[in-house]
Amino acid sequence: MPSLRLANLIDGRLQAPRQERWLEVFEPATGEVFAHCPESSFADVDAAVAAAVAAAPGWAATPSEQRARLLQRLADLIEARLDEFAALESRDSGKPLSLARSLDIPRAVSNLRYFAAAIVPWSSESHAMELGAINYTLRQPLGVVACISPWNLPLYLFTWKIAPALAAGNAVVAKPSEITPCTAALLGELSIEAGFPPGVLNIVQGRGPEVGQALVEHRDVKAVSFTGSTRTGAQIAAAAAPRFKKLSLELGGKNPAIVFADADLSDANLDTIVRSGFANQGEICLCGSRLLVQRSIYDAFRERYLAKVRALRVGDPREAATDLGALVSREHFDKVTGCIAQARAEGGRVLCGGDALALPGPLAGGWYVAPTVIEGLGPETATNQQEIFGPVVTLIPFDDEAQALAIANGTGYGLAASLWTTDLSRAHRFGAQLDFGIVWINCWLLRDLRTPFGGAKQSGVGREGGVEALRFFTEPKNICIRY
Ligand code: NAD
Repeated sequence: MPSLRLANLIDGRLQAPRQERWLEVFEPATGEVFAHCPESSFADVDAAVAAAVAAAPGWAATPSEQRARLLQRLADLIEARLDEFAALESRDSGKPLSLARSLDIPRAVSNLRYFAAAIVPWSSESHAMELGAINYTLRQPLGVVACISPWNLPLYLFTWKIAPALAAGNAVVAKPSEITPCTAALLGELSIEAGFPPGVLNIVQGRGPEVGQALVEHRDVKAVSFTGSTRTGAQIAAAAAPRFKKLSLELGGKNPAIVFADADLSDANLDTIVRSGFANQGEICLCGSRLLVQRSIYDAFRERYLAKVRALRVGDPREAATDLGALVSREHFDKVTGCIAQARAEGGRVLCGGDALALPGPLAGGWYVAPTVIEGLGPETATNQQEIFGPVVTLIPFDDEAQALAIANGTGYGLAASLWTTDLSRAHRFGAQLDFGIVWINCWLLRDLRTPFGGAKQSGVGREGGVEALRFFTEPKNICIRY
């Protein structure tokens, strides 16, 4: 099969990068190059921003019903090609095809539909004053905004950003991850078919330090919505601060799943706890990588948990029976296996997994790691403090609520926590004290798109989701009239 050659979307046209340079895109399942993505430069970014600047006033003046209609049309076009999108997403990222088909692509469609529906009834506030004046708030689009997304949920997170930005009336320049650029490129093609006016949505592919940084620094970009690592988030914050740009940062995590002795550990709940550690090879920012278990049930829990983890199948992402596919890149594979080696060096006992897996035939060059469970490491160890972002879970016993809370809150991150208990008072009490932007009780990854989404501490700044996203992508202006 010939290699796929992706294009940028600039001013409504698919374009090669001006310098004609390309990056190799790898298929994680085999380690082979299967596509080439534009290695864009400042000139491409500048052209995209110029197109967006030209398109922004017309798009802002377009009635919200019409903006919504175009977003709905794009959602329909993606949905009509769901199988193609899912296959491409799986091939590009190494995730199981079944997951791309059931989670990534349907969620991308939902993101577009949700914000299309949300923008139409969206209203703003008014505040009447007794002395005879009324204030009302206009929420106007910002103009040109940048949306920068990571590789772990490529189309899912790409649409999570562009949908509210476009719905709110902004022109967008978006940059998907250069590691997984394919589905965003296909979305770009479909946006032309959907009928978006030229320049309203631009997609510039390429490396983060070039394309991403150029977007963040560009004087005509008013806001940056970024999802990715805490390290890159800090660089973006440093570049944006002196330029006074609006920023939304969704960053890394080191999430706890906390299991109390009174938890309902039905088979289905235990399956969810396993999934919370290993879904998408553990490459979801919301995965619970620290599993805190109350000491009185620790041994019994561990045996049941390990039996389920050992039953997970690592294999060809295209096979329906595969639970875990390949890690996204050679570099990430090296990082995750390095973290496992570090855990061993810190004195951790590997209870299952712990190794890279060599699969047969065409998969021999792929980047597979067995689901790994480690115990015996204190909460302060590097393994329990640093984000690994792979199929690695550590087990940590605790005695009581106070100790569980101290361990759970005892990292620099604060993205998501999950809590397993049947004690209603404890659920409320403990949930309120967790220093995390998202707390799930007796569930995990149950997402309502209306809710605020984001992290505390080094997991981010600001919230996305629902009206939070629409607020981020608009500038409030208060108008006060005396009568
Ligand atoms: P990354 O920070 O390496 O890259 C993210 C994006 O930023 C990519 O498009 C990249 O090209 C771009 N980029 C890199 N350097 C840049 C720069 N200097 N300026 C502007 N853009 C730049 O992250 P990643 O490895 O792709 O993704 C994994 C990370 O994302 C993990 O830490 C994970 O926890 C985090 N994540 C967070 C959330 C969340 O909602 N909080 C969701 C998914 C992933």
